[in-house]
Amino acid sequence: MKATEIFQVYKDNIMPTYNKVPLIFVKGKGSRLWDINGKSYLDFFPGWGVGNLGHCHPKVMQGVRDQIAKLIFVPNNYYHPFQAKLAKELIYWSFPGKVFFCNSGAEANEGAIKLARKFGASTGGRFEIITFENAFHGRTLATLAATGQKKYQNGFEPMPGGFKQVKFNDINAVKAAITDKTAGIMLELIQGEGGVNIAARDFVQSLRKICDEKKILLIIDEVQTGIGRTAKMFCYQNYGITPDVMTLAKALGGGFPIGAMIARKELGDILTAGMHASTFGGGPVICKAALGVLKAVQKEKLLANCRKTGEYLLGKLNDLKNRHPVIKEVRGMGLMLGLELDIEGKQIVQKCMDAGLLINCTHDKVLRLMPALNTTKKEIDKAVLILNKVLQ
Ligand SMILES: *Cc1c(COP(=O)(O)O)cnc(C)c1O
Repeated sequence: MKATEIFQVYKDNIMPTYNKVPLIFVKGKGSRLWDINGKSYLDFFPGWGVGNLGHCHPKVMQGVRDQIAKLIFVPNNYYHPFQAKLAKELIYWSFPGKVFFCNSGAEANEGAIKLARKFGASTGGRFEIITFENAFHGRTLATLAATGQKKYQNGFEPMPGGFKQVKFNDINAVKAAITDKTAGIMLELIQGEGGVNIAARDFVQSLRKICDEKKILLIIDEVQTGIGRTAKMFCYQNYGITPDVMTLAKALGGGFPIGAMIARKELGDILTAGMHASTFGGGPVICKAALGVLKAVQKEKLLANCRKTGEYLLGKLNDLKNRHPVIKEVRGMGLMLGLELDIEGKQIVQKCMDAGLLINCTHDKVLRLMPALNTTKKEIDKAVLILNKVLQ
């Protein structure tokens, strides 16, 4: 298909649920993408954090190739070795507990909400879940209710009940919202879609304490922050706490769709046969891909690289801030970085794209950079050069 025909088919036959950029990509390797005309781009925003290893990582590709030749699908009423192996790896990297496998971030969060409700039902008829302003937890109805932002909910009301939004980083607001019906508190430690807002350490530790006291589940949504993005395997490991429930997706499959919900040991048997399920969840091909991702993070020392290159990029972005007053603040952790502007960021994203650099703008005024964890200083220099020119 030619480019013009592809655009036309999208227009005629695909639901317009995305704001589209007129680029057609056909090949990727590491932090590089090539479009249909052969033009190459530096990808500093690989799919909202899907591409922590960059595009087409060999460890992921090889594993998937091997597995596809042997067995593609196993129904979840049977066993297969790679789901077991992946669960063991995830528990090794996180905390003692049990995993539920699904296919996306929204599904992982939906599972966490169901688990919290089941837990609440058996401990005093509790069902409420407290979430935070500017959160993003997904697009299914329950996760949309948890997300709590009008711009995503408009036209889809009534929302499922049982969710309460409070101000992020405001422990008194949380305390005021807790009732004898509260079963869980759910949050991102860095709000990705909400503008790269970082949870304060004392806030998170206070949440942990309150949850312990009141037997409320602390649910951490690591869909965007997980798998090494913040220079720890999971972002909560920067905070000196352990969640009761953690959700994962995006980077876990190295580009293949997978979601996971992990609950600590005592909660591991709350959801039993018949209560929750996913036909494709944790299939052999996907698990093999995810095992490749975790192996690459370890073997290629990507947590250390993320810390090093993250600091390097942060330094460069702070230099940009000193040179361009349009940048109000630079913030982030590891390689999840945001530049808050005092103008709309759309045009800057567009101009960077024209110059061969892919970045994102969230919350209207926050440029978001989330390069692959194996990105190099040379690539960072190139990206910063483009950004500098565009800002000028
Ligand atoms: C992307 C995202 C989700 C939703 O994930 P999907 O795979 O798109 O359903 C949930 N939570 C956070 C923090 C996300 O960034």
